[in-house]
Amino acid sequence: MRDANPQTIYLKDYTVPEYLIHSVGLNFALDDENTRVSSRLTLSRNPASQSKDTTLTLSGENMKLIRINLDDGTNPSGADLHLPEGLWAGQPRVNDLSKDQYLQTQDALIINQVPQQQRFVLTIENSINPKANTALEGLYLSSGMLCTQCEAEGFRKITYFLDRPDVMTLFTTTLVGDKDRYPVLLSNGNKVAQGELPDNRHWVTWEDPFNKPCYLFALVAGQLECVEDRFTTQSGRDIDLQIFVEKHDVDKCDHAMQSLKNAMLWDEQVYGREYDLDLYMIVAVSHFNMGAMENKGLNVFNTKFVLARPDTATDSDYEHIEGVIGHEYFHNWTGNRITCRDWFQLSLKEGFTVFRDQEFTGDRTSKAVKRIEDVNMLRTRQFAEDAGPLAHPIRPDAYIEINNFYTLTVYEKGAEVVRMIHTLVGADGFRKGSDLYFERHDGQAVTCDDFVNAMEAANNIDLSQFRRWYAQAGTPVLTVQQHYDPSAQTLTLTLSQNCPPTPGQALKEPLHIPVTVGLLNKDGSVAPCKLQGCGETSPKAPAVGCCPKTDEVILQLTESEQAFTFENLTEPPVVSILRGFSAPVKLVMERSLDELAFLLSYDSDTFNRWEAGQQLAGQIISGLIADWQNGRDMHVSPIMVAAIQQVLEQPWDDLSYFSLLLSLPSETYLAEQMQVVDVEAIHAAREFVLLTLAEQLEAQFQALYRNNHRDESGQFDSGAIGRRRIKNTCLSYLSKLENKPIYQLSQQQFNQAKNMTDQMAALTVIVNNPHPAKQQCLDSFYHQWQAEALVIDKWFALQASSSMPETFATVQALMQHPAFDLKNPNRVRSLIGAFSQSNPLHFHAANGRGYRFLADQIIALNTLNPQIASRMVGALTSWRRFDEGRQALIKTQLERIMTTEAISKDVYEVASKSLAVEAAGRSPLQNQ
Ligand SMILES: [Zn+2]
Repeated sequence: MRDANPQTIYLKDYTVPEYLIHSVGLNFALDDENTRVSSRLTLSRNPASQSKDTTLTLSGENMKLIRINLDDGTNPSGADLHLPEGLWAGQPRVNDLSKDQYLQTQDALIINQVPQQQRFVLTIENSINPKANTALEGLYLSSGMLCTQCEAEGFRKITYFLDRPDVMTLFTTTLVGDKDRYPVLLSNGNKVAQGELPDNRHWVTWEDPFNKPCYLFALVAGQLECVEDRFTTQSGRDIDLQIFVEKHDVDKCDHAMQSLKNAMLWDEQVYGREYDLDLYMIVAVSHFNMGAMENKGLNVFNTKFVLARPDTATDSDYEHIEGVIGHEYFHNWTGNRITCRDWFQLSLKEGFTVFRDQEFTGDRTSKAVKRIEDVNMLRTRQFAEDAGPLAHPIRPDAYIEINNFYTLTVYEKGAEVVRMIHTLVGADGFRKGSDLYFERHDGQAVTCDDFVNAMEAANNIDLSQFRRWYAQAGTPVLTVQQHYDPSAQTLTLTLSQNCPPTPGQALKEPLHIPVTVGLLNKDGSVAPCKLQGCGETSPKAPAVGCCPKTDEVILQLTESEQAFTFENLTEPPVVSILRGFSAPVKLVMERSLDELAFLLSYDSDTFNRWEAGQQLAGQIISGLIADWQNGRDMHVSPIMVAAIQQVLEQPWDDLSYFSLLLSLPSETYLAEQMQVVDVEAIHAAREFVLLTLAEQLEAQFQALYRNNHRDESGQFDSGAIGRRRIKNTCLSYLSKLENKPIYQLSQQQFNQAKNMTDQMAALTVIVNNPHPAKQQCLDSFYHQWQAEALVIDKWFALQASSSMPETFATVQALMQHPAFDLKNPNRVRSLIGAFSQSNPLHFHAANGRGYRFLADQIIALNTLNPQIASRMVGALTSWRRFDEGRQALIKTQLERIMTTEAISKDVYEVASKSLAVEAAGRSPLQNQ
């Protein structure tokens, strides 16, 4: 068994690289099954390294070594890899190393002795088999196209190298291949030379003028069509923009191209950042482990985040495409120009870049809606991660397989931490801080501390306590108590914080938490928000952002417990706290249903207004869960119906926001709130509320549906998007009535839809109800779209997440469907991922068949694609949250996974940590 005890890597062991690479010349003789790679490295000892070791260790895996040549300048080898035919002929050369001069291990090449005083040139020739590479790391084949994925450690599967982000160098890459097989040959930077060769071959040389680590290297070769456009930067430089896709996808690139131009303009306007090369390329590939990759000048994207046409992509696909295109583009500065010193610092580039893409999408669409969607995801998925056995800080201090740390914690919580800095220093202060960060560190590989240092220096503030957010795992619980003193006319809020233990971190220090607060009068108007001691020098007074405006205040909680007093309040106000979700915490505050209904009607903070509705629904559903568990009849409080009715009767400009106000918390979010998760009770209670609202407000939902139904083809503008969203929310409510007219309405929408949003919304309703035409609609959808892989992914996912009783049998049958392919990550996610992560009711069936099914797939995927296999284990990690019967069933499957022959590091790490005894599987609320 390989990797029985895989090695753990620790942040505290970091040392600077022993060698520097000054330049690399790569030459690829491309072939699907036997690509020959020549790499010519100019190296020297790193003067900053303390090590006395005179060997040179390069990382490398899964390749055939052909030759090594070491030229220290005394006896020149004369091999010139900058020629397109630089590959050597068979006979030995001067300076070739003999077998006793190096050691080849499973994952490294160790050269016994290299020059310590002068630069030297190391040339390595090896071969790799892209077709056999189903892990999709390094160079691989996707739908007949050769492409690469090097982050985090894929480059070592291409050639031997110092594969670590703090080794940055200049790349010159020559690609040689058959003209018909690989008409397009792409790599990073600018195209500097090209030509023809005998035997129908051609070559292209690319030169990247910017130093970069090898994880940003990319190569693409194949039969691709190019869609072109142009962008003029703020300083007047013309940039060529190119999107490469397969021929039948050329008509689905307009939105991606427009998104790229929007992102380029936004980064100039908001951050003053301009693009630096003359060419920006995006390639869409169908087999991709992640969403997209920011390789310098040559982004490689999952097709899912490029291709869109109104009839094939939903409004939310459109939004995601713009967000991901923006994200990868923004990385050019936050990730590429300034990169991470080591992989523990991943949140340096990801947290900041996610924050940037969130703001970009908010500016492009609706800030209120974007914030709610982001918080929803954070609280549903990241909070679960933070409360489970794999909890880790946004800057982890240990890992076995870095691929396992591309997590919601590093990305989404990382973005929340950056957002808190933004809140603390304000928009202008944040811009000053980011300007300083770019100025100080351009061209360097740095740490999260360097980022915080720049924010501190530019704003003259102390973030030393704030830095604990980078080091402490777990979601803090923020408890709020209020006391109104009528004689003093003051309100005192007592805030306390507590963070539950997480694996390896039993005790937590208090964090620096910004808490935004507003106050409301009984008639819904804004109450004065004057903090006692504000403006005076008092140890209790917050140092920064005290009372920037009179209707809102940012409290700075830094101790375990702290009291804040507001004055000049003639009547007890209603408190709106944690506005905008100003910190990633769980808020505990006693609220009556009436108070929540009041905030849902009057809070001027768009986030808290929505949040009040969520809490109202959450409280009611949790009461119904208890009723269901105890066999009592369920009744929905009239306060809930009246609150929703009140929302329905108001006029709304932002229809997407309106539809969010009408949406109940998801089953997954409700599960997150329970001590022992009961999937059946959650489903029954939530469905009962939906049905009750549909029955009592049917006329309003009907009217709203009709008023917003248009025969539109699906343009991406906020008015049309909002109309579709509110209309489809109404359809979803009405479908709960399960009557003939509603069946007809959904089928009619399905048949007549001119855009994917409407078609998909109708099909979702049909598939999640006992609709008589269900199979007929599914079949016709499949036949309509079988040539569109991304639409077929939706078809799989929809069936896998259905709440109908036959779902498990359907999932098993779909595994045998000719369109299913275990080697395609998008397909795996759409069927196995959707079933295990978006269908709690059926995945957690009490007989354990869902768990057994998932374990079977993980074991099969372990060999094919460890990264995807490990992602799938995620659905089993929170097993301690369930009842004893389910716990035993899940544990058995985790143990079975652990016995997998040749278990990968990826799967081993997640499964073993899930089973570890010390793992915290409790709800954080238990630890108050
Ligand atoms: Zn990223």
